[in-house]
Amino acid sequence: MRHCRCRRWSLSLLCIAFILVSVSCIEYLNYHQKTYLMSAMQKKAEEKVSLVRTRLEALIFSDVYILNSIPVLMAANPNMSVNDWYDLANRLSERSKHIRSISLAPNDIVEYVYPLEGNMQVLGTHYRHLPEQYQSIEKARLTQDFDISGPIPLLQGGQGVIARIPIFTDPPFNSQYWGSCSVVLDLDTLLEDAGVGALTEQYQIVISSVNELGATGQTFFGESATLSHAVVKENVYFPFGHWVIAIAEKPTSLLSVNSMQSHSVRLIGYGNLIFLSLSFIAIYRMYDLANQRSLHDPLTGLPNRRYFMSTLEQQFLLAKSAIVGERFALLNIDLDKFKWVNDQFGHNAGDQVLLAAAHRIKSTLRSSDVIARVGGDEFLVLLPRVLNAADAQLVVEAIERSLSHTPVEYGGHSIQVQASIGCALFKQPFNSVEEMLKAADDSMYQAKKQRRDLQIAII
Ligand code: GH3
Ligand code: MG
Repeated sequence: MRHCRCRRWSLSLLCIAFILVSVSCIEYLNYHQKTYLMSAMQKKAEEKVSLVRTRLEALIFSDVYILNSIPVLMAANPNMSVNDWYDLANRLSERSKHIRSISLAPNDIVEYVYPLEGNMQVLGTHYRHLPEQYQSIEKARLTQDFDISGPIPLLQGGQGVIARIPIFTDPPFNSQYWGSCSVVLDLDTLLEDAGVGALTEQYQIVISSVNELGATGQTFFGESATLSHAVVKENVYFPFGHWVIAIAEKPTSLLSVNSMQSHSVRLIGYGNLIFLSLSFIAIYRMYDLANQRSLHDPLTGLPNRRYFMSTLEQQFLLAKSAIVGERFALLNIDLDKFKWVNDQFGHNAGDQVLLAAAHRIKSTLRSSDVIARVGGDEFLVLLPRVLNAADAQLVVEAIERSLSHTPVEYGGHSIQVQASIGCALFKQPFNSVEEMLKAADDSMYQAKKQRRDLQIAII
């Protein structure tokens, strides 16, 4: 059926278009969802780094502020006793948990250190022989202000940020240099209190010092490689230089924390699309099956009257059209004395005869011919491109031969099959399909009558 095939094609095209539009929509939404998630993650990361930066700046400034009193006290008391010094250093270090040690270096040679325990090796250090450290002390003396360096590796082990405080015996003139005070701030506790530890659970983090604070570009926390794929970079400012703090997403955190969220659009979208497609296929299959059943004869599987009439009408229109003008023939086949078969051998035997007849007629036809069972023992055959009665007669004879050639065997009985066949050629001036059908019907009855008359004559 041509229009049936055409409908399938348009339905398939519609499905493909629907799938393409759906996939485009899902991918479009997925792209926007990902962009939104990325910017939300970026914002969250920026907030976290900003918080750490602020805390770091505040912690270092508050620690340095605590040390403000040292130069004044030392100027008033240049010959302070060791006990008084320990007392002072003890009180100062109690006010900040980051102070690891405080040392005094008259003439830049370390004489006092607090606490003594763990820092003994510092005593006697001559700063002028240590160019890296002396640079900072010299700077503090010349600027008459604090200088902070680091983080640097400490003689006592670990890393520390060192604040250098110049001490003069004649403040506020500051022309008599007494020596210096060095305060070591513990880097690990500083970073921990600033929240760096918590940040490392979710991100890769790197902190590098720039300018006067440590060697330029020296990374003292994390891996330098992180800088290359950092999502957020922030400067931590001090009056003496700055650090750079940068973070990158851990590959695992991206996958585990956000994978459900980042794939939610695809999961929901494609899930629904698959569900809709499967539902559509199931409904279409059911519809198709019902349609097939409504167009076919359940016993022989041949097209039924409805199917045949639709095909015949199309063929009739084609034949009537001046452009195509394709001629065809219509055969009406009715089995002879079929009732007798039913009565004699039973309904099942009749069914077997109908099946055999359907098979035998079909086997004599071309693939382009259409055969239908349109009644109890009645078949219609459409023969396209049959131009004259002689050609149609050849087909009629071939059908008669194939039907009666061998009897149908059923329950030990041999049942002879015969049929009367009527024919109508389009070339006659038919106005409608019904007229042509009637002509084929009349022709069949004519043939049946002749056969009966012949049988009577023989008897
Ligand atoms: P005629 O030679 O004049 O054609 O007579 P006939 O005996 O073939 O009778 P007719 O064609 O008028 O009747 C067809 C019979 O086919 C009527 C009905 O009992 C029988 N029949 C209809 N459908 C079926 C079917 O599905 N199976 C069987 N076994 N018989 C059927
Ligand atoms: Mg009959």
